[in-house]
Amino acid sequence: MPPMPVAFIGHGSPMNALEHSAYTRAWTAFAQTVPPPRAIVAISAHWDVPGGGVTGNDQPPTIHDFGGFPRALFEMTYAAPGDPELARSIAARLGLAADRVTSTWGLDHGTWSVLVHMYPAADVPVVQVAVDTARGAAYHWELGERLNDLRDAGVFVVGSGNIVHNLGALRFGATEPEPWNARFDADIAAALERGDRETLVNYERHPDAALAAPDAEHFVPVVAIAGLRRPGDAYRTIVSGAELGSISMRSFALG
Ligand code: ZN
Repeated sequence: MPPMPVAFIGHGSPMNALEHSAYTRAWTAFAQTVPPPRAIVAISAHWDVPGGGVTGNDQPPTIHDFGGFPRALFEMTYAAPGDPELARSIAARLGLAADRVTSTWGLDHGTWSVLVHMYPAADVPVVQVAVDTARGAAYHWELGERLNDLRDAGVFVVGSGNIVHNLGALRFGATEPEPWNARFDADIAAALERGDRETLVNYERHPDAALAAPDAEHFVPVVAIAGLRRPGDAYRTIVSGAELGSISMRSFALG
């Protein structure tokens, strides 16, 4: 069996869970090209835990980790089973203490707002892995490397965040990205395509990083997925675009 691809999904607004757009249709279409996974490992921007974390629930709850959205969004659930054994093996790969496999969290919207479109039947076990922004971007590259062998075991590793994410600079009604959004997004896409570890783990040195990527937790899943690349893996754009001026919706796959 060939190794599973890996993917990063730019999730944008939680409302994407409810909506059907060019973005969500591209996520759905991409998932249909992926061999049926035995399990999904989701690295979510919305779970930033000092010391790391892995969900170990048999049945992870749907976490509605946002406010001010319509009731229909709070009523959504994504009832995929967990996989505690896989969770423990991931913690071991990452060198995390056993108590980092936790049932105090579940699937947050970084994970379920995209999986409702990619795997709507919710019949594939999902284990969520936390980011740990206190440990910097290079740690997340290594995190990806340490999960690499799961690709040979039918496990589909997905990162969820946004390459450009500046909520303070949102411009409602904007139809074009801010110039710093377009520049940073393009430069990171080029670095991803050529597998440029130095640029990715040092993304904060990019002249537009302070505006484009002030929220490390939304960027480091990109680095983790890039760290899972193998020689010969092609870089593919799943979808790209900008929302509200200051968000990049770029999603990509490697494999
Ligand atoms: Zn988010």
